[in-house]
Amino acid sequence: MNFELTEDQLAVQEVAREFAEKKLKPRAEEFDTEARFDMDLLREMGELGFLGIIIPEEYGGGGMDAVSYMIAAEELTRGCASHAAAVGLSNSLYGYPLLTYGTEEQKKKYLPGVCAGEKVGAFALTEPGAGSDAAGLSTTFKKTDNGYILNGTKIFITMGAVADNVIVFATSKKGSGPRGISAFLVDKDAPGYEIGTIEKKMGLKASPTTELIFSDCVIPQENLLGKEGHGFRIAMSTLDGGRISCGAMGVGLAQEAFNIAVKYSKEREQFGKPIAALQAIQFHLAEMSIMIENARNLVYKAAWKKDQGQDYSLEAAQAKLYASEISTKVTHKAIQVLGGYGYIREYQVERMYRDARVTELFEGTSEIQKLVIARYLLK
Ligand SMILES: Cc1cc2nc3c(=O)[nH]c(=O)nc-3n(C[C@H](O)[C@H](O)[C@H](O)COP(=O)(O)OP(=O)(O)OC[C@H]3O[C@@H](n4cnc5c(N)ncnc54)[C@H](O)[C@@H]3O)c2cc1C
Repeated sequence: MNFELTEDQLAVQEVAREFAEKKLKPRAEEFDTEARFDMDLLREMGELGFLGIIIPEEYGGGGMDAVSYMIAAEELTRGCASHAAAVGLSNSLYGYPLLTYGTEEQKKKYLPGVCAGEKVGAFALTEPGAGSDAAGLSTTFKKTDNGYILNGTKIFITMGAVADNVIVFATSKKGSGPRGISAFLVDKDAPGYEIGTIEKKMGLKASPTTELIFSDCVIPQENLLGKEGHGFRIAMSTLDGGRISCGAMGVGLAQEAFNIAVKYSKEREQFGKPIAALQAIQFHLAEMSIMIENARNLVYKAAWKKDQGQDYSLEAAQAKLYASEISTKVTHKAIQVLGGYGYIREYQVERMYRDARVTELFEGTSEIQKLVIARYLLK
């Protein structure tokens, strides 16, 4: 077994780390305070190849492996989780289903712009009445002579406020379950498409989370994604990949908070010596380091299985569950190591704690990950 990264993976790590250090980290606090996503930085991430890192080159991507993608996601998150979330969105939630289920025309039309950071793609599954129960959608589609008409409301859509094209899941009839669901590529200028409330959130504040409303929204026939009735399958397979990148985000936040805690513990003196000399602080740091290492290994293993073409749903759920929960724990401990200063915005760990919390919720809550894992264990 080889735990070393390849030369290509090390190169990705270096570029992502440098970008995070220079472009994201110095402004992360400002983005959080202003709840503002910087579209120029999105374009820069596109130019560096992060937005389409696992998308094949023929569609404007980097054609790299999933492990490289996780490395990039971790490093970028260390700089600013809100901007790193856009990388997970473009590669996993938007790029993957389009690449896997889209027609050649759809892929050529939509993927290159999103990989370049010139366009934004989003993924709209969640509704006011359908979160964990994703098959219980109320947004409906009706077939017409030329295409489809969508009606309904989606909530909590990452980058929905700035998206040019959104993958929207709708049912032929409310109550018809997974088999009634289809997926559609909806352009922002489609008649009947409207951006609703932009949510105010606890964390990940710079990443816009938005309501999308479809009122007799007109979709041309060629914008059906995959086959009619295959939407639920598309959504579930998409979330497998998305879950690993959520895990990588959790690792990134934990690693950055840990680094801050280590540095601070060596500088802060109480009772005439650095607090790093106190065994209580050393125990915190030791526990944090093990959690981070375990989480990263789970994330890498799930990504590696994906790269081998093996079923990785179990490992993706394990990685997402563990990495998101330790992200909250490690950032919580980092605040403890910094004492009162950890609670002050200037020291940044309080933002990381707030950002980490959502990794336990989106792309399937921790409880849903446990259900997925148990299903594998008991089959
Ligand atoms: C910042 C943010 C960004 C998001 N981005 C997107 C996006 O881009 N696209 C998108 O489609 N969605 C997005 N979401 C939605 C997210 O995926 C959902 O919030 C999530 O799936 C949970 O759904 P819910 O909020 O309705 O909670 P609910 O499903 O109502 O869950 C409430 C509680 O009940 C528990 N629960 C529910 N069912 C079960 C069960 N069967 N067994 C055990 N426990 C259960 C849950 O674990 C949770 O603890 C985003 C959410 C947030 C907060």
